Amino acid sequence: MSAKILYGKDFAAQIKESARTEVDKLKNQFNVTPGLAVIIVGENPASQVYVRNKHKTCEELGIKSEVVALPETTTKEELLAKIDALNADKTIHGILVQLPLPEAVKAHSDEILNRIDPLKDVDGFHPMNVGKLVTGTPALVPCTPAGCIEMLDLAGIEIDGKRAVIIGRSNIVGKPMLHLLMARHATVTVCHSHTKNLPEITREAEILVAAMGKPKFVTADMIRPGAVVVDVGINRIAPKKLVGDVDFDAAVEVASAITPVPGGVGLLTVAMLMKNVVTAAKLQLGV
Ligand code: NAD
Repeated sequence: MSAKILYGKDFAAQIKESARTEVDKLKNQFNVTPGLAVIIVGENPASQVYVRNKHKTCEELGIKSEVVALPETTTKEELLAKIDALNADKTIHGILVQLPLPEAVKAHSDEILNRIDPLKDVDGFHPMNVGKLVTGTPALVPCTPAGCIEMLDLAGIEIDGKRAVIIGRSNIVGKPMLHLLMARHATVTVCHSHTKNLPEITREAEILVAAMGKPKFVTADMIRPGAVVVDVGINRIAPKKLVGDVDFDAAVEVASAITPVPGGVGLLTVAMLMKNVVTAAKLQLGV
């Protein structure tokens, strides 16, 4: 068997198209242009690429984009003051702080992220939005796991009643993924670095989500034949070579559907960010 390959660009295009329609509606009906501010501190080259990509996608969809590039020496107080100003700015509906923050302010990441108005928290990291997700009234949901669910829906893959296994329990991917899959009536197990007999558990999965950051860790023998494999991992193993957490070439022979790396889940994240900016604008307008 050779799995169906779930290319992110196809699904991202659909998500972006529906965001564009919503942007046009907000402009025409309410005279409001959704706006995103991305704060980047320091010169991390990977972060610069991500921020450029977000800016470009905003422009593509007619979303106002403001990149706030601050020097490496920025203090916590300066960052908090900038966030306060953006919270008060009526033309900005979404605020995102590009992570990781430089060493000097990294220890204050939570305090900095929690300063963002929950209605403008397009990353969905604020405890208020996390609480809403856990209690089943989601508003703004972390983009990567939300993108995975959207992709499964667009691909016509049933989630209800399925046995799902997630490898990874981070606040950004693993934990929100648990709540999103559970809300869609999957039976979910979350595995992590202390899990014993991991392959035994992953082999039960009809939907397997790998989000651990370990190159090609998930081998074919860890995959149930016919499973849907969602590879969130992005691992740079050489200057120009990215691989996922799944051994793709072997897994493709066992799974029924699988996302590639690169070209899979990564593309959905930015598309979902655009959708979150639109959602944030609507929440603030009360429509
Ligand atoms: P993280 O480092 O915060 O978390 C990794 C998780 O994997 C932890 O919960 C840990 O317990 C688990 N883990 C590590 N080793 C393990 C092992 N041997 N067995 C079982 N579990 C193990 O990482 P993260 O932020 O959740 O990101 C995970 C991966 O997803 C990374 O490769 C990251 O680059 C990628 N990522 C991709 C996107 C995207 O847009 N596609 C977005 C976010 C993260």
